[in-house]
Formats: sequence, structure tokens, C-alpha cells
Amino acid sequence: MYDPNNVFAKILRGELPCFKVYEDDQTFAFMDIMPQADGHLLVLPKEAAAEIFELSEPAAQAAMRTTQRLARAVRAAFQPDGLFIGQFNGPAAGQTVPHVHFHVIPRAEGQPLRRHANEKQDPAVLKAHAERVIAALAELA
Ligand code: AMP
Repeated sequence: MYDPNNVFAKILRGELPCFKVYEDDQTFAFMDIMPQADGHLLVLPKEAAAEIFELSEPAAQAAMRTTQRLARAVRAAFQPDGLFIGQFNGPAAGQTVPHVHFHVIPRAEGQPLRRHANEKQDPAVLKAHAERVIAALAELA
């Protein structure tokens, strides 16, 4: 069921690069490579689960704790009008990477999101955005 060679499993094992913003024993967070808005990041439980149905309760709790923490940091760093948190299960729901993850996406009033998983952001921009989130996390701690 779980594909250990999905792109997020490779990021978790350090086999692929990412702009990491946070890590603890149970969770990992990094900038989305094709952000739908500036500051869009992803929070992952480290547990090997493709969809939320397979996730253990401790891993789900840890993922939600980290998602709330990162949502606070993104809000502080980007000061959006609102903030969307989303999680897709299965291709029919829009999931493209089969490892559970939570999208944290700042929203600006009246501004549509860029298309899902569509256009890669300049790495220098992702790096700068990651640094803003990391600085905000340090402030919140
Ligand atoms: P989903 O469609 O919910 O599975 O979301 C997968 C997300 O992962 C999309 O928003 C993609 O832009 C993002 N993504 C895909 N590959 C990478 C990668 N190598 N690094 C960071 N984000 C990625």
C-alpha cells in the first residue's frame, strides 16, 4: 500500500533536497516547491502512511500539533488576511504525493490561489520564504 519511494519518503530520508523549516521526532515541514501562494508549506508526519486513514493516532496528533505551530509561524511571517489548511486523500480528492501531508497556505482577500502542483517557484524565493518562517518560529518559541 505505502510506496517507500514516493517523493516525500525520499525527502524524509534526505535523498532529495527541500527547504526545511521544522523537524522533530515525529514530524517534518518544508516549503511547497510549487506554491499556490507565497509561504505555502507542507507538514508531514514521519510515519509511513499514504492517506489519513492509515495514520496512527499519535502520529495524527503530532502532525496537527506541528500544523498549528507552522500555521502560527506563517501567519506571523506573511501576515495574510486568512490561512487555509488542507489535506487530500487519494487522486480523486486531488492528492498527487502518496504520503500524508497538510498544506498550510496563506490567503489574501480577493486573490485566487495559483494552480495546484503546477509551477515551480524560483529556489531563491523559496529559500527566502523558508527563512522568514524559521525566524517567525523562533519568535513564537
Ligand atoms: P497533494 O496534491 O496534496 O499530494 O500535494 C502535493 C504537493 O507537494 C503539491 O502542492 C506539490 O506542489 C508539492 N510537491 C511535489 N513535489 C515536491 C517536492 N519535491 N518538494 C516540495 N514540494 C513538492
